[in-house]
Amino acid sequence: MHVSVALFTADLRLHDQPPLRAASDGSGHVVPLFVRDRAVDGAGFAAPNRLAFLADCLHDLDAGLRSRGGHLVLRSGDVVEEVCRVAAESDADEVHMASDVSAYARAREARLRRALEGGGRRLHVHDTVTTVVPPGEVTPASSDHFAVFTPYFRHWCDLRPRDVLAAPRTVRVPDGVGSEPLPDRSALTDLSPALARGGEAEGRRRLAAWLRGPVARYEDRHDDLAGDATSRLSPHLHFGTLSPVEVVHRARKAGGPGAESFVRQIAWRDFHRQVLAARPAASATDYRTRHDRWRSGRDAREDAAAWKAGRTGYPLVDAAMRQLLHEGWMHNRARLLTASFLTKTLYVDWRVGARHFLDLLVDGDVANNQMNWQWAAGTGTDSRPNRVLNPLAQARRYDPDGTYVRRWVPELKEVSGRAVHEPWKLPGAERSALDYPDPVVDLAEGLARFRRARGRE
Ligand code: FAD
Repeated sequence: MHVSVALFTADLRLHDQPPLRAASDGSGHVVPLFVRDRAVDGAGFAAPNRLAFLADCLHDLDAGLRSRGGHLVLRSGDVVEEVCRVAAESDADEVHMASDVSAYARAREARLRRALEGGGRRLHVHDTVTTVVPPGEVTPASSDHFAVFTPYFRHWCDLRPRDVLAAPRTVRVPDGVGSEPLPDRSALTDLSPALARGGEAEGRRRLAAWLRGPVARYEDRHDDLAGDATSRLSPHLHFGTLSPVEVVHRARKAGGPGAESFVRQIAWRDFHRQVLAARPAASATDYRTRHDRWRSGRDAREDAAAWKAGRTGYPLVDAAMRQLLHEGWMHNRARLLTASFLTKTLYVDWRVGARHFLDLLVDGDVANNQMNWQWAAGTGTDSRPNRVLNPLAQARRYDPDGTYVRRWVPELKEVSGRAVHEPWKLPGAERSALDYPDPVVDLAEGLARFRRARGRE
């Protein structure tokens, strides 16, 4: 009997799943394995919101495998030791897994390859599982990666993604390979109250609903904060309950300007992945240094605490930060604004903000989070690194009637008209009746401080 192990990582699905497909095609039996990796937990990535989503994904994956005659094997510990242990227990001679981009994922792959080969086993690593176009597949003539999105996107569009693979009809797991019990979402504490549900079935339901209608208006409405008119598929793409290749094929089939603009965002995801793959240190250090000497004293810490709590006194910033606390998710326009506010208006290190986002975001993802933070801070790939987003101008444009602010900042619910964005302008008695803070910083002072720091004055 020929046995293979299919190691699931950021690809927790049965549809369009090249490692599982290859493991089951080439052999009679397959061990579908997920390792709860001690090192990932130890590095501070075990945020409760993501653990809850992960628990949903593992239950759903197990259910999908059971309906095909198999089941999921869950182990926890050192990923390399556990894979080798399961391979030995099941007498498997090969392991299939997806490639990934972070420095950690690449070191894991190299370690696993060495350990398996040392035991006479093979590791097969599959591209186009976690990205549409693998990092390094398209490069400019003079570099190992694209640092500018537009030319990257042109090349990205020229490549035809591989065909979508069907889910296996049956999965035969060899007897005698034990599994730990699957984690229980209800045992977790400190979850965002309105956290999304995980799992492949939920991801596929959301994708189908999105492509049936709302995607058509994506191009016009994606920046409308109150309209909430984006796909909210990011956690499913992060955990791989949806395949980015399948998402692109199906969106293109849906067609129209909305779908095209949605596909462009999926290309942004690949773009950041190819940057991080080429510059793994960019997860923690400036991609392009601007020689910042970020504020770090007590005042800066207090400002950062107000930002995290959604009490900066700028209603749009506070609404966004409270959405993050409540849902474990934030709208992209709001992420851009809050990141610009922390790094530029308050001049606090982007790593402080990136860490806070990773502690809460259900889609928290090293490549997307760190590279977008660097973009917003002007240390990344943005070609206009010193632009500063003004929260009042952003409010006028993306929340003109204040619906988003009233939704998330109950203290301002009764404030009518545009004053909801500038409560400090309300007449004395009305202002003092509100339990809402004064602005932590004057916008003009914040801007001047940033320009001085960047040598722009
Ligand atoms: P949609 O607008 O429906 O877009 C579809 C998909 O395209 C998203 O699900 C996502 O996978 C991808 N995408 C969209 N915008 C971007 C982008 N700017 N960069 C890369 N991919 C994109 N995204 C994450 O998935 N994880 C993160 O940790 C993360 N952190 C961010 C931090 C900051 C400071 C900023 C500015 C952006 C961050 N993003 C992150 C990117 C983006 O905000 C989210 O992907 C998006 O808001 C998710 O909502 P959606 O699924 O409705 O997106």
